[in-house]
Amino acid sequence: MNKQATSNGAAAADAAAVAADIEAQRRYRLAAKSSDPQTMYQAAAWSVHNKLVDAFDKTQEYWKEKDPKHVYYLSAEFLMGRTLTNAVHNLGLEGEYAEALKNLGADMETVRSQELDAALGNGGLGRLAACFLDSMATLDLPGWGYGIRYRYGMFKQAVKDGLQVELPDYWLDAGNPWEIRRPETQFKVGFYGSLDGDKWTPSEEVVAEAYDVPIPGYKTKTCSTLRLWDALPSSELDLAAFNAGDYVKAVELKRKADEITAVLYPNDATEEGKELRLKQQFFFVSASLQDTIARYLEKHSDLSGLAEKATFQMNDTHPTIAVAELMRLLIDVHGMDSNAAWGVTTKALAYTNHTVMPEALEKWPVRVIGKLLPRHMQLIEQINTQWLASIKDHVSAKVAKEQAAKKAEAAAAAVKVAAAAASAAEGKEAAAEEAKAGEEVEEVDLVAEALKAYSIVQENQWNKDEMLVNMAYLAVVGSFAVNGVAAIHSEIIKTDIFPHFVELFPQRFQNKTNGVTLRRWLAYCNPELSALITEALGTDAWVKDATLLAKLKPFAENAEFRKRWRAVKQAKKAELAAHIKDVTGYEVSTNSMFDIHVKRIHEYKRQFMNALSIIHRYSEIKAMSPEERKKVVPRVCVFGGKAASAYYMAKKIVALVLSIAETINNDKEVGDLLKVVFLPNYNVTEAELIIPAAELSQHISTAGTEASGTSNMKFALNGSFIIGTLDGANIEIGENTGFENLFIFGIKAEEINRLREERKDFKDYDPRFIAALDLIKSGAFGRPDYFDDLVASISDMNRGNDWFLLANDFASYMDAQAEVDALYSDQEEWTRRSIIYTASNGFFSSDRTIDQYAREIWNVQPCAQP
Ligand SMILES: *Cc1c(COP(=O)(O)O)cnc(C)c1O
Repeated sequence: MNKQATSNGAAAADAAAVAADIEAQRRYRLAAKSSDPQTMYQAAAWSVHNKLVDAFDKTQEYWKEKDPKHVYYLSAEFLMGRTLTNAVHNLGLEGEYAEALKNLGADMETVRSQELDAALGNGGLGRLAACFLDSMATLDLPGWGYGIRYRYGMFKQAVKDGLQVELPDYWLDAGNPWEIRRPETQFKVGFYGSLDGDKWTPSEEVVAEAYDVPIPGYKTKTCSTLRLWDALPSSELDLAAFNAGDYVKAVELKRKADEITAVLYPNDATEEGKELRLKQQFFFVSASLQDTIARYLEKHSDLSGLAEKATFQMNDTHPTIAVAELMRLLIDVHGMDSNAAWGVTTKALAYTNHTVMPEALEKWPVRVIGKLLPRHMQLIEQINTQWLASIKDHVSAKVAKEQAAKKAEAAAAAVKVAAAAASAAEGKEAAAEEAKAGEEVEEVDLVAEALKAYSIVQENQWNKDEMLVNMAYLAVVGSFAVNGVAAIHSEIIKTDIFPHFVELFPQRFQNKTNGVTLRRWLAYCNPELSALITEALGTDAWVKDATLLAKLKPFAENAEFRKRWRAVKQAKKAELAAHIKDVTGYEVSTNSMFDIHVKRIHEYKRQFMNALSIIHRYSEIKAMSPEERKKVVPRVCVFGGKAASAYYMAKKIVALVLSIAETINNDKEVGDLLKVVFLPNYNVTEAELIIPAAELSQHISTAGTEASGTSNMKFALNGSFIIGTLDGANIEIGENTGFENLFIFGIKAEEINRLREERKDFKDYDPRFIAALDLIKSGAFGRPDYFDDLVASISDMNRGNDWFLLANDFASYMDAQAEVDALYSDQEEWTRRSIIYTASNGFFSSDRTIDQYAREIWNVQPCAQP
């Protein structure tokens, strides 16, 4: 985008100024004598840091003066990845920095590779938050992210003896040039303690201290912030302990504060229900709300208008304690009456649901919340009582209507019976009277029973003695908008998770299909393809206006353009092949199809099913004659993804992929016809290298389980085919790309419940499926005992029930795989459609998503500096 810039005089002068600045950082900030790559990275990063601070200050001053409505994106996770390349590009200084580093004897590629990922997130949900920040800044929307400054991010995954091992991710080790500490911005956050009436006296207190991570928009002066909170011991309690001469207690308080922000919980799509996690959630939510209120009160005298200036978007249920905390702050701290506070709260909060899977829907025991946050538990009870009272008439009417319908049915049946048995007419009237009286009593109970389905506080279905707070229900009741993250998911939310609430306020439920930032996920991770797109379109405006990508479509028909498109893909494949060799030692051919399956390891994402299809492919090749083998389309099957440390089956899936890789890759008979690779430590940086090299990518979750997926969008934009189910955003990608261009297979979401019911009698096993399982059991890939539970989970109804329906989908998956092979043999057609993928999927830019949030939920307008 700025390639020409370095050749003109002004830019050369700029490059000289940048070089001088980098040198100054090295000499004075780092006091470094050498200029090794890590030093040069740090020096370059601090130099960029200063430019970001300037942009940040100007933006924030401007917003303060104009006082526009802000959105605050509350998220327990932000999966940011590296910053240097992104910041330099967004500032439009990539030419200058590349030139400056060259003049200093370094090179950009080596320098940028020194940066550790900021991995403050698990996967899709955290990465979505990061993409949203980029789009908010790029669209000049006044908006901040709020989160936690974990000292240990997502664990580093390594492989030892064929198994995943987890290593701590101490990402702040070498210092973090991308943050600004704000010792002047501190808020107290209390925990535990006692309640006297409604007056809460916490017994533990920490101080939240702000760190700002500047977020530069692309081609704009706007620079927003991700404000992350660190926890410090409260100086008051600390001092008291010191004054009492209790040094050990003072140190203990420091340890307790440290614990809160120590580590990101490494669970994706499951919740642990640990008290420390609730502590983390409350900690960052409370600090963020206090911070916003304090800034609001600098300009306004009372809080009744807060919702006109602030929307808090809650990313999943993790921050939903905000419903109670905003109430508490308004009532207890700022003296608002509780009705007014509820009015403000429910106009200020909005909630995004990210999952329909029961194990991921947070439900906190009343006991745990009551102990850690007694005042909040009291408020939740009050909110619930009022809520249930407010809907009682609706529920009574509904019950009465249902009863009336039932009675009418029964009466109709009775008439029939009566007609048939006219002789027994005597006692009929008396019996009818009796029945009526009984029904009235019953109806009262029925209303109470029906109300339970709406209750925020509910019985634990597995343990009748425990009451739980359903955090999603709290969020729905406390928000003015609730959204899902893909069209199908937003429908499933309405029918399966919150149907009772939809009855009451259908307009509250919306869809906002996810997106990804085209800066990181196309322009910067695939500069070669970007250059080709820019050349074809005659402009780089597509980086900010993704709808322009549609103009690529005619180029799909141009043979010369296809050749160049293919050459870019080959170059990206060669880069990935070199990386694979580096990391795993395996040599893969760039003449093979690169078939990629990268995402968190989870049974619902069905990496196991892909592994079984590879085992079948392997067996098939082994059984072929040399002549037949010549017709095989060679494949490199690449896997990547972390298994949560306590997720038993997921860890076995990783081990299985590693085992089949070892067997297949060392089988001389198979050679380049099939290679299997597990790339350890899948993270944002790995994704940026892997995705541009993909020709086929796998998004094969059981229909109805993946809320949206976002890597499917990244792959599509980089011209990779999708093999996948009718799930999440795959459906909308199909609508945009044309379903004929995707390899779609498998059962539909609406069939899942029935098929799960029928699983116990399932007989229709595909012989290839059975044979693949038998091969694992035979020990062909080693460790048959270790894989026994995994195999049983999908094939032995006494030990597992194939909950994710691999057996049901396997045959159609194999059919889709055969179509892939057939199409790949026609490289001209394959390339044509690859171009169509990129051209068709501008819709999945997070700029579009954020624009919809801003208009349809937040009512926040752009506020750009002149
Ligand atoms: C995009 C992304 C994800 C999400 O992938 P899905 O396939 O949508 O689950 C997870 N991890 C990383 C590092 C990503 O970049």
